[in-house]
Amino acid sequence: MSTHLMPTYARQPINFVRGDGSYLYTADGTAYLDALTGIAVCGLGHCHPAITAAIQAQASELVHTSNLFEVSWQEKAADLLCQAAGMEQVFFANSGAEANECALKLARAYAHKQGKRRAKVIVMDNAFHGRTLLTVSATANPKARAGFYTLDEDFIRVPFGDAAAVATHSADADVCAVLVEPIQGEGGLHTPADDYLEQLAQICHDNDWLLMLDEVQTGNGRTGKYFAYQHSSITPDVLTTAKGLGNGFPVGACMVNGKAVGLFGAGSHGSTYGGTPLASRVVCAVYETLNDSIMQNAITQGDKIRAAVIYTFGDHGIHARGRGMMIGFAMPDTIDLTKAVDLARDEYRLIINVTGGNVIRLLPALTLSDADTQALIDKLCALIGKLIDAAQPSM
Ligand SMILES: *Cc1c(COP(=O)(O)O)cnc(C)c1O
Repeated sequence: MSTHLMPTYARQPINFVRGDGSYLYTADGTAYLDALTGIAVCGLGHCHPAITAAIQAQASELVHTSNLFEVSWQEKAADLLCQAAGMEQVFFANSGAEANECALKLARAYAHKQGKRRAKVIVMDNAFHGRTLLTVSATANPKARAGFYTLDEDFIRVPFGDAAAVATHSADADVCAVLVEPIQGEGGLHTPADDYLEQLAQICHDNDWLLMLDEVQTGNGRTGKYFAYQHSSITPDVLTTAKGLGNGFPVGACMVNGKAVGLFGAGSHGSTYGGTPLASRVVCAVYETLNDSIMQNAITQGDKIRAAVIYTFGDHGIHARGRGMMIGFAMPDTIDLTKAVDLARDEYRLIINVTGGNVIRLLPALTLSDADTQALIDKLCALIGKLIDAAQPSM
């Protein structure tokens, strides 16, 4: 490992050189079934032909001009994305954290417009919103926050899934918005009750706050809808996304509706790289490829994986979480997951992740085939069986 890289990641000792659909390959040609897709990024699979073609074609035409000029691919991407997301306008950024930074600035602009003294945003326990200073301040994980003098006066933290806890801050005149993930990803695949977003939308409406949804991870078909909020009856005021938006090409988006429209004018926000012709053409290719049958597949295969594990190990206290291709298995405390990722990779050639301490997390491609779903189930059940055996006290 090069000592010239800042050691911000505890990396696994493996280097993939090629990807194709749901498989990753090392230099010697060994295939690994990828149930993580670059952390919910390559939702259409690695090197999807339509995305590769878009990158290749645009790379040889025009990569970047800046937002000082009209960018017709950016306009087309905005039309496609806003149409799918049910939102009015979009600002293109380059990552999830930047999209959320934009949302938090919108919240402050909204507070300012209302003549508020301060602009506090209500956020949740176990939330993850990014690594910039403002978004890491909105994030809950103590490891991500430690030592950075986070901007805690700007946030109020309440339990996730508890709308009543949000409502208790109605009397606080400094609050201007609620920022929440419809399903928490990094925080452990927590899935709230079906009416949670409806309740939050009502509270935000009653208090004239912005309801801001962080769909960086849940967006772009991951849960079986373009955006997870579309499983509910609400529309957010602000909606952010990234990850699956570029299928691996770095791009983020912050979208607005209704009362959040018109808060920014010329000069109030910007990004040199945001929405380049190249990034925008990739977004167009993703949204021209993503369709109902792919999203239905995400639901069908995701449900199959959850059902198979529960059917096989139901009596071992394992609980399935998530929706569509956002899959979590909360394991009982008796099972040690510290070696699960290494074991999955080295013994079963399966790429997984562990989050929240005791949750096996899978974020497979939305396009996972029947055969690959079965292969994933076989590998995963073998892995879990082995972990359970290791936890049995020896006779
Ligand atoms: C990954 C993630 C982010 C941060 O995105 P980056 O592209 O890493 O900046 C923010 N919010 C959620 C919910 C995420 O899953």
